[in-house]
Amino acid sequence: MAQHADNDTRDERGITRRDFLDGVAITAAGLAAASAAPHLTGAEAALAAMGDAGSSSAQVPPGYYPPTSTGITGTPDPVIRNVLRIDGLPNPNDPHSTKGGPGIETGKARPVDDDYDLVVVGGGASGLAAAKWYQDRFGADAKILIVDQLPDFGGHSHRNEFHIPDGGNGGADLMLLRNGGTVNLDSIGNWNKPAGGLLDIPGSYGQPAVDMLAFCGVDPNNFPSTTGPGIPSSYGMRAMLLFPAADWGGSDHVVRAKQASQTWPAFLATTPFSAQAQADIARIQTDLTDWIAVKDGPKTDQEKKAILAGITYKEYLKHYVGASEEAALYYQRVSHGLFGAGIQAVQAGDMWALGNPGFDGLGLTDDIFAGIGRTAQQDLDPTGGPTRAWPDGNTSLLRLLVSKLIPNAFGDVNGARPDQDTILVAPCDYTQLDRATNSVRIRLNSTVVDVQPGKGRRRRDHDARVTYIVAGARRAEQVRARHVVMACWHRVTARILDDLPRDQIKALDYSRKVPLIYCRVGLRNWQAFADAKISSVSPRGNSLFWDSTSLSAGVRFGASYGPTPNTPDRPATLSLTVTPDDPAELTQLASYERGRQEMLAMSFQDYEDAIVDVIDRTVNASGGDFEPERDIASIMLNRWNYGYAYELCSTFDPSLFGPVADQPHVRARQPLGNVAIANSDSGAFAYTHSAINEAYRAVQDLPG
Ligand SMILES: Cc1cc2nc3c(=O)[nH]c(=O)nc-3n(C[C@H](O)[C@H](O)[C@H](O)COP(=O)(O)OP(=O)(O)OC[C@H]3O[C@@H](n4cnc5c(N)ncnc54)[C@H](O)[C@@H]3O)c2cc1C
Repeated sequence: MAQHADNDTRDERGITRRDFLDGVAITAAGLAAASAAPHLTGAEAALAAMGDAGSSSAQVPPGYYPPTSTGITGTPDPVIRNVLRIDGLPNPNDPHSTKGGPGIETGKARPVDDDYDLVVVGGGASGLAAAKWYQDRFGADAKILIVDQLPDFGGHSHRNEFHIPDGGNGGADLMLLRNGGTVNLDSIGNWNKPAGGLLDIPGSYGQPAVDMLAFCGVDPNNFPSTTGPGIPSSYGMRAMLLFPAADWGGSDHVVRAKQASQTWPAFLATTPFSAQAQADIARIQTDLTDWIAVKDGPKTDQEKKAILAGITYKEYLKHYVGASEEAALYYQRVSHGLFGAGIQAVQAGDMWALGNPGFDGLGLTDDIFAGIGRTAQQDLDPTGGPTRAWPDGNTSLLRLLVSKLIPNAFGDVNGARPDQDTILVAPCDYTQLDRATNSVRIRLNSTVVDVQPGKGRRRRDHDARVTYIVAGARRAEQVRARHVVMACWHRVTARILDDLPRDQIKALDYSRKVPLIYCRVGLRNWQAFADAKISSVSPRGNSLFWDSTSLSAGVRFGASYGPTPNTPDRPATLSLTVTPDDPAELTQLASYERGRQEMLAMSFQDYEDAIVDVIDRTVNASGGDFEPERDIASIMLNRWNYGYAYELCSTFDPSLFGPVADQPHVRARQPLGNVAIANSDSGAFAYTHSAINEAYRAVQDLPG
């Protein structure tokens, strides 16, 4: 760190980091602290002995292990409270609002630690990647602090680790893993394709995300197999559709999902849809009419795509294909998983590119077009594979990254460093993440409330100052750094980074996020599901809370994990997902805000009731005997208040027609002095590779 040598020798108390690291400053107080806290190294014990004067109060106790936390995880209540104080309440009527919350009063912040080369705000994929890219650019000995408000590192990549007594194995503890957030590394083949699309996606920066896989030892072409044996077909488990009474009248209808051997009319005859709606749905699924030509006369390929880019999928189905409102209910939620909103708010061309029904007769070519969204563009490339997943989602990639950045945090597995297979079972010691002797430190449970870019001519004013509040602490703490990367959400950056130009604040504020819930239920057994022969439930209509419910057992990953048991008397996991939204809101942004309102108004008890409700109406209504108190071991409700980055939708965001440089996320991510801006928000692209690429770009944006 030659460039920083002048700045990193002394803090305001005249104590140097290097003094500690060399051990010469270990005092009597330090020795006493060391004997009282044997898990601390000598240097850290000295810091601890300084108490209020120098060390952060964010240290986590031995045994701290957030992957096993139950109840509301993802974004827990105290963090939500802080986010609302920084960013304000959701407001669907004013989705572009630049008005923030009341703010967080810090009082006089206590300086802690010595100066850093880099402080990263946010420890998700982008923040962790920023640390690696910074080392590459400024040197491996750079002193880096990553600060995150969550109890765990990884942001949206959160590991759910269940330990359930296994009745089929004498009650021995069984570990079952699930992803609490990010699912997979999507379309890896696309990551380093040269730019050239209208939107410059994918491949904006070429190689970084691919390089990150290599750095972490992940080989997509030689990836551990995830093909578990699953639930044996002899159990006759079936995927079911639920047509709730509230949408269709009478009582609930639980219907088997369409099978490949069935014709559409034969399947639809088993549903409560009216004859008219059945005919409409069959037409959407199978008719090869060019609906645009019928309505608007002959059009070229690009003209048709321009029409689709300007309307929603629901408008297309109703106005062009002639579907009734009732028929549209069959499709209402199909866009939730990727867009976080219903078909009234997503662009028709994107839905075509993603392979949804109703477009086959248009004869469109597989080329991108003006206004196409980023996810659709990525998906349209037939050579975009492979997609890879660990049982705990992309958390494994980030655990591998942390095992490289902070080797002492991850133990060996079978005498070797964790690799892409064994990382799944590698132990993580969270007490090692924030040690003074690390070159990279991760400070958890710490909400950053103010970032002042460096300014002024005097040397001590060059550094940026980052102020944060540790959960439960009395006083704010402050660290100084030569550089800062904001890897938190754009709307938060808009409110905590000082001196931003007004136009940039507006652009940052545009990045509303998709609210999502991935709920994982650890089951002691799944006998009730076996008796009802139900493996999954998808609702139709709008009234049921969950978008999907599915059972998982018999999972295997590589040589390190599984196969997990797959008989009904033994533990399994149930997964329930939803993107809360409002089907009456026309724009995605308003729909997100309405969904966020709903999500935040629900207590854990409400969520539990919603879990039991769907099981009751399907499994128990079909011959199962599910007893929540008997059959549920624990619940991990991964609630993501600020989930996917908003990718823009051409129907409502004309800027998506280009040029890219004028789009809000590009105007938002401009560096400010010695502070640069990362996060997947700054790519308007809700993927781990985008988060990693944007971190790379942000680190290159920093002044030398
Ligand atoms: C449920 C879910 C499923 C997903 N599935 C996939 C998938 O399968 N594949 C895929 O590629 N992508 C997926 N994504 C998209 C995901 O957003 C990206 O993959 C990526 O994880 C985003 O990383 P990030 O660092 O940009 O943001 P985040 O992961 O959100 O990290 C930002 C961090 O900043 C922290 N922060 C915010 N404000 C502050 C503050 N004031 N002080 C301190 N810290 C702060 C937050 O706590 C957070 O940890 C999914 C997202 C969700 C929510």
